[in-house]
Amino acid sequence: MDRQQEFVLRTVEERDVRFIRLWFTDVLGMLKSVAIAPAELESAFAEGIGFDGSAIEGLTRVYEADMVARPDPTTFSLLPWRGETQGTARMFCDILNPDGTPSLADSRNVLKRSMDRASEQGFTFYTHPEVEFYLFETPTKGGPLIPIDHGGYFDHVARPAGHDFRRQVITMLESMSISVEFSHHEAGPGQNEIDLRYADALTTADNLMTFRTVVKEVALEQGVFASFMPKPLADQPGSGMHTHFSLFEGDRNAFHEPGAQYELSKTGRQFIAGLLHHAAEITAVTNQYVNSYKRLWGGSEAPSYVCWGHNNRSALVRVPMYKPGKSNSTRIEYRAIDTAANPYLAYAITLAAGLKGIEEGYELPDATEDDVWHLTDAERRAMGIKPLPEDLDEALDIMEGSEFVAEVLGEHVFDYFLKNKRAEWNDYSRQVTPFELNRLLQVL
Ligand code: GLU
Ligand code: MG
Ligand code: MG
Repeated sequence: MDRQQEFVLRTVEERDVRFIRLWFTDVLGMLKSVAIAPAELESAFAEGIGFDGSAIEGLTRVYEADMVARPDPTTFSLLPWRGETQGTARMFCDILNPDGTPSLADSRNVLKRSMDRASEQGFTFYTHPEVEFYLFETPTKGGPLIPIDHGGYFDHVARPAGHDFRRQVITMLESMSISVEFSHHEAGPGQNEIDLRYADALTTADNLMTFRTVVKEVALEQGVFASFMPKPLADQPGSGMHTHFSLFEGDRNAFHEPGAQYELSKTGRQFIAGLLHHAAEITAVTNQYVNSYKRLWGGSEAPSYVCWGHNNRSALVRVPMYKPGKSNSTRIEYRAIDTAANPYLAYAITLAAGLKGIEEGYELPDATEDDVWHLTDAERRAMGIKPLPEDLDEALDIMEGSEFVAEVLGEHVFDYFLKNKRAEWNDYSRQVTPFELNRLLQVL
């Protein structure tokens, strides 16, 4: 047993922990949990805990149903909402095949593979997400969605619900050693944003799984309803998860170069070039729902076109203003990802796209400083600016033809993802919507 594992056993004993939840994530990014008693911990570390993988979306085919979840002791934390005494703790798990090899269906492993690839080139990938979500009154079945306030961007809302909500989420996250950089009311009524401090991408993805759970728990406790749906209200902004990326070589920021344009190094430029080159192929992964495309094409500072710019909020990739003297803060912001993505897969694929730009030495096109939403199609074409996929169907077609995405996700995740998402698109296309009824029923 290693020192981390011993630390977990000791803490469980000293803190009188009653249950340990083993957490893992399915291919679509949904959290799964199985609780074990403290007496099972030693064998969970040694051999993992067996479960029926065929019952979980995307994990296995029925004929190879046995899977093993092995907890990662470095992710041990008490769950603050389960109380102090006789408490509950959790650890994230790696999913293994019965022979102990990593499961190809484990999205945490997909991200680890991308990060290994980065580390072969000497890089660690750091991410800092801006997570947006809505708070609604608890909806009645079939009733309207009512945001809990009428606030807007950065508003200090008189009604205290939003402040108390963010305050409590942040307190809980910090008690679980997840640091929050800042938080504020977002542009939509009842819309909030909480930004997690940068960490390596695997830690960030784990933190995001915890974050979503904490937000849901606090909402339950406060009698409101939280949703990470990308575009819950047609005429209000969607909820994105812009993420700031940087690569570090040891403690040196590989994106920083003093005196270069925007202080951005060649490595940083090539990373952006990789993201732009593969943007259309990876959009199904970063924006995985039918609803995601209503955000991307619904205005309100969500990106629709593949271009980059300095401080340009209409661009897919933005290079934020350099803070003098802070070389570590040089970074780029990828604005497509939404809050409903599987964070492991989204970071695995964006990292791989950026690395590809470095490996292949892709040339970065000129920055766009115009507001690309207000250019005409002809102007955008003349500037070589292409649109992101307009809906899930188009995104899946482009993804299906991408050897790059197949390689990064691995065949199992790639095939399952396409199958599941095609089914979603087909279900969606068959709907007769209120839009059609309102337009046509009376006049035809
Ligand atoms: N809510 C916007 C989006 O969907 C982002 C607003 C912002 O710039 O923070 O991407
Ligand atoms: Mg925001
Ligand atoms: Mg942003």
